[in-house]
Amino acid sequence: MANKRVIKVREALQQRNLDALLITSSINRRYLTGFTGSSGYVLITAEKAYLLTDFRYMTQAPQQAVGFDVVEHGPSVSQSLQELLQAQKATRLGFESDNLSFSAYNKYAEELAGVQLIPASGLVEQIRIIKDDEELAVMKEAADLADRTFMHMLEFIKPGLTELEVAIEMEFFMRKNGATSSSFDTIIASGERSALPHGVASERVIGSGDFVTMDFGALLNGYCSDITRTVAVGKPSDQLREIYDIVLEAQLNGLAKLGPGMTGREADALTRDIIAKYGYGEQFGHSTGHGLGMEVHEAPRLSKLSDDILKPGMVVTVEPGIYLPGVGGVRIEDDVVITETGIRRLTESPKDFIIL
Ligand code: ZN
Ligand code: ZN
Repeated sequence: MANKRVIKVREALQQRNLDALLITSSINRRYLTGFTGSSGYVLITAEKAYLLTDFRYMTQAPQQAVGFDVVEHGPSVSQSLQELLQAQKATRLGFESDNLSFSAYNKYAEELAGVQLIPASGLVEQIRIIKDDEELAVMKEAADLADRTFMHMLEFIKPGLTELEVAIEMEFFMRKNGATSSSFDTIIASGERSALPHGVASERVIGSGDFVTMDFGALLNGYCSDITRTVAVGKPSDQLREIYDIVLEAQLNGLAKLGPGMTGREADALTRDIIAKYGYGEQFGHSTGHGLGMEVHEAPRLSKLSDDILKPGMVVTVEPGIYLPGVGGVRIEDDVVITETGIRRLTESPKDFIIL
């Protein structure tokens, strides 16, 4: 029996007038089949769903990829594909044009005789944009782990530690508690470095009066969390304290008013307008948020330029910030699910101003 995700792919194939889709993205492969191996190809036709992989996975793949015909491919993947496509009389083959390299495309074009290769950009990604209950349950676990990590770090951080020592402790904590890895390079930006929106942890020593921005997440069972908190180590300057309160007000306004039917642009304005009202609009140079799932950045976008319409089941971040070069910065980020009426939070760490 075909799984719901495969049924959705078939609907999209019909809409795009394709006979079959070749999936080369490893994330889309895992999403559709549940197969966690490092190598494989998925071929979906109107009638059949195949997972092609090599001999190393011939025990694991059939166990994980329920509902798929698992095919062992030899040195030439094209040859196996050719046979399967011919058997299904499929000639119009969609491929993942955002994923397949130019050289791999040329190879398929040369080797798949009688098959027309048609770019099918974002086909599976558009299905992934709405999370089902099973996915939301895993994402809640990934978010809970990020929350527990933050609470652990409140006990750990003290003046004299380097940003790297803080980052390593965080990553160790997440791994010990079930994460496959961090979902991206942990950002620890302290003191004047907190003005860098993407300040990956450095050798800088954290001092008293510093703001420390931690932007991190756990990759758990294939899904990401992504949270940011800024805390003070010792009493900060009045200016830093002021921008903290503004970013918090903006973030809370975003969470309070975000909901289905809104465009990404309207969602972005919920935080941006508050920051601009206080005169810091120029110091908030990135977008309000992004979709989150198996990848840390996916559709939809919550930005000034986004026409994406928010729908129930989408998971997005809300992460306004203010960055003052040479002084410091603040960002506060949570992960939320869009519901029928508004949002439900996934990350729930405290964000009242904290001095360690
Ligand atoms: Zn983040
Ligand atoms: Zn983010």
